[in-house]
Amino acid sequence: MKMLLANAEAWPGFDTTVELLRQGGAGIDSMVSGIAKVEREAKVRSVGYGGWPNMLGEMEFDAGVMDGTTRDVGAVGAVPATLPVSALAHEVMKHLPHVMLTGAGARRFASERGFAVDEVLHPDSKRVWWERLQKEMSAEQQAAFPDIPLAPLSNTITDPERVRDTTVFLGRDASNGIGVVTSTSGWAWKYPGRLGDSPIPGAGFYADSRYGAAACTHTGEMTMRCSTSRSIVLAMRLGYTLADAIKLAVDELSELRTGFLAGVVIHAIDAKGNHQVVNYRCDEEIRYWYWDERMAAPELRVATAVKL
Ligand code: ASP
Repeated sequence: MKMLLANAEAWPGFDTTVELLRQGGAGIDSMVSGIAKVEREAKVRSVGYGGWPNMLGEMEFDAGVMDGTTRDVGAVGAVPATLPVSALAHEVMKHLPHVMLTGAGARRFASERGFAVDEVLHPDSKRVWWERLQKEMSAEQQAAFPDIPLAPLSNTITDPERVRDTTVFLGRDASNGIGVVTSTSGWAWKYPGRLGDSPIPGAGFYADSRYGAAACTHTGEMTMRCSTSRSIVLAMRLGYTLADAIKLAVDELSELRTGFLAGVVIHAIDAKGNHQVVNYRCDEEIRYWYWDERMAAPELRVATAVKL
């Protein structure tokens, strides 16, 4: 059964991907086409052009692509000046012997593959970034910026209003191939060079067409420590139901006692056509888009909330 699951930010591209899947398009191609629209939509304030910069006011994008039939992966991290980065991750998968490129190397490869050098810092993001940074810096620090130690700021600058989000698409196509695609600008005001979980296979995403797929949003600093997406798919391989596999992953997250701890949203599908989205510890209501071929139109639904 063809199906598509994505988080609430997917709205600019969800219908595009559904239409391509309906027409028999390959899962990854269809999802990359949809996410490209999300990345270019300035109203989506967490991904692509509408996202938030790092502490230096520079956009650094992360993205990942996984084909669950071959287990091929392409990923890019901390990429400057490039949209859409999920398409760039797909190019890594198709044209290099590597799985992941970061920073300047990823930008160089983008030029080789014909991606323009884009203006990616939204003027409003620049304004909010500087206002936020000014609040945290003394007059001396402001005068010396950016030649100041950034690490002390990174502990205080997290902004509850504008923290993080990612767009994740998990799909099953006409040949029962299951795949997953992610894209994000990462945490607002992150330390330069920081990678989140969205480009890390096993943490932010994982797919195996025989069992299912999972993708996470919110606190990558937790899912990277627990390999959350891979754990869910491996648990299903070992015979867990989708719900029990997610419960195992949530239990692992809740065992963490140190480091940066906050909310995580888990999106997962299995090869039998089930899906679940679980909001672990996020205060706000989390919603997601769902469509399968039995449905006339996609639906925006509310995730199951879990607080341990
Ligand atoms: N998980 C992403 C990261 O850690 C951000 C998010 O989805 O909120 O960069």
